[in-house]
Parts: sequence; structure tokens; C-alpha cells
Amino acid sequence: MWPKSFDYIRVNSVEEAITQLNKHEDAKLLAGGHSLLPAMKLRLAEPALLVDIAPLGLTQVSDRGHGWSIGAMATHAHIAANANGALAQAAAGIGDQQVRNFGTIGGNIAHADPASDPPAVLVALGAKIYIRGSGGERNVAAEDFFIDLFTTDLLSDEIITSIYIPRKEGHTNAYAKMAHPASRYALVGVAVDICTQEGHCREVRIGVTGATTHAVRASGAEAVLQGAEINDGNIAQACEAIQADIADQLLGDAAYPEDYRQAMAGVFLGRAIRAATA
Ligand SMILES: Cc1cc2nc3c(=O)[nH]c(=O)nc-3n(C[C@H](O)[C@H](O)[C@H](O)COP(=O)(O)OP(=O)(O)OC[C@H]3O[C@@H](n4cnc5c(N)ncnc54)[C@H](O)[C@@H]3O)c2cc1C
Repeated sequence: MWPKSFDYIRVNSVEEAITQLNKHEDAKLLAGGHSLLPAMKLRLAEPALLVDIAPLGLTQVSDRGHGWSIGAMATHAHIAANANGALAQAAAGIGDQQVRNFGTIGGNIAHADPASDPPAVLVALGAKIYIRGSGGERNVAAEDFFIDLFTTDLLSDEIITSIYIPRKEGHTNAYAKMAHPASRYALVGVAVDICTQEGHCREVRIGVTGATTHAVRASGAEAVLQGAEINDGNIAQACEAIQADIADQLLGDAAYPEDYRQAMAGVFLGRAIRAATA
């Protein structure tokens, strides 16, 4: 399959990228190319111009003390090797080695594939997405960034520059996913960030991907755990609650239908809670 013909340009600054996006209505940024190029070959995307942002750098995975700064162009392999907790676990489980070596976190979240792993983790960790465009710089909470199937809060002339993950004292986190046997995309993925004291949950955030049209927070399951003892009974209740949380946004196909993924969200929430509190 061949894509429709297109022009190609490399840019050396974020400003230049924004200028190109402004000048050409049909321009698309090119990062790792692992979602955009397959979509072009299938003619699902037909950009007239590809703006290659590889020269921009933006590859940092830096512990700033008060939190982590992850550059938009950081590859999954780089994140798996240099971050920790749920984010590193999710990155390490993406696709295969080639996908992890090329795919970037910025491209991943801009594409907003419902089966992507990082979105659930960023929602659970309370991450902020830093964005620049002709209107200046802004940041958006991850839970407000993912809007629907392949749809985000990003405007057509905007570029994601980095992601900030705040450090929260006493918190631990984990990501558990049921991977598609061929692509490794998440059929269901659940991320949990939790703070416990004497066996009780003081604070918790839960993000879900794969089973839903876009990454969402499971606030009903969070409410069950909040203040409760972390024991088998309360975990089982949270696993019931998450199924109600996602009931309106379920996604499925012939092989892995909606009700199956909904039930699996409960199973994988249990695994993520146990891993985060182990
Ligand atoms: C075989 C295969 C298996 C995969 N398995 C998984 C998996 O298990 N889990 C998973 O999460 N993902 C998986 N992926 C997706 C992969 O992880 C990439 O993250 C994803 O393809 C997008 O990243 P990219 O850097 O390749 O972006 P590109 O394909 O270059 O771009 C994707 C989109 O994002 C836009 N974009 C890119 N960078 C930016 C930016 N900085 N700011 C704004 N917009 C931007 C582009 O214009 C384009 O619209 C898989 C992909 C393949 C091909």
C-alpha cells in the first residue's frame, strides 16, 4: 500500500514547526512515524506536508526532584530505561523493541489510540501535558487532554513539548495490562497511583485504557478505596465499581467484545492495586 504523495520538511525549532503548521492546513508533525505512516499507507491520513520534528531534541527523561519532565520526543525505550514505576512498566510493555525504539510519548498521546498504554498512566499520575502553538504555551491535565476516540484537546497548530509528572511523597504506582497477542496494544490497561498509611488508602487515582474510547479516570473505584483498608473485600468492591465507571464509554470488537473488556478492567484493577501496594 502506498500513501498519497506528500511534501517533507525538517524543522530545527518549535517555533518553526508551529509556523509550518500555521502555513499549511494539511500539514502533520512526524515524530517516530509508527502511527502516522501506517495511517497514511491505509489512506486514513493524507497530509500534504510532513513536518519532521526529529531535530528538536525534546528527549529528556529527567528527575527534577519535585517531579519528572519527559520530553515529547522521548522514545518508549528511553522511558522504560530511565523512568520508574507505572510509566516505565507501561513503556517497557509497548509493542516490540522496534516500536519502542521509534515510537515517542508525544506521538503516542497526540494520536490518542484508545488501546495506547501511556494515557492511562498519565491520567493516574496526575500528569500535565505542555503544549505550544501560535497562541503561546499552555498546559492541560492528562485527564482533560483525552477527549474521545483519536481525539485530544490539541489544536491543529499546536505541538506537545513535554509532560510533567509531579512527585507525590509516600505514593506508589503500578500498571497492569492485558495485551493484544499480536500487536501488544492494550485490550485493557489499568494504572493505579496510591498512598497508603497503616494499611489504609489515603489517596488514590486510577486510569483506564483499552476498554474505553479514550483514557479515563475511574472515580467510582477511587471512591470505594479512599480511606478504606486495602484488603481482598475492598479490592473486590473497587473491581466492581470500575466496571460501572466505564459502562458508558466501552469499546470492543468481535474477538474482545465490550462486556469482556469491562470484566477484565475489574481483574486488571485488582492486579494493579496489589502490585502498587506490594
Ligand atoms: C506494531 C505496533 C505495535 C504497537 N504497540 C503499541 C502498544 O502496545 N502500546 C502503545 O501504547 N502503543 C503501541 N504502538 C504505538 C507506538 O507506541 C507509538 O507511540 C505511536 O505509533 C505514536 O508515536 P510516534 O512517535 O510514532 O508518532 P507518529 O506516528 O510520528 O505521530 C502520530 C501522531 O501524533 C502527531 N504528533 C507526533 N508528535 C507530536 C507532538 N510532539 N506534538 C503534537 N503532535 C504530535 C503526529 O502528527 C501524528 O498525528 C504500536 C505501534 C505499532 C506500529
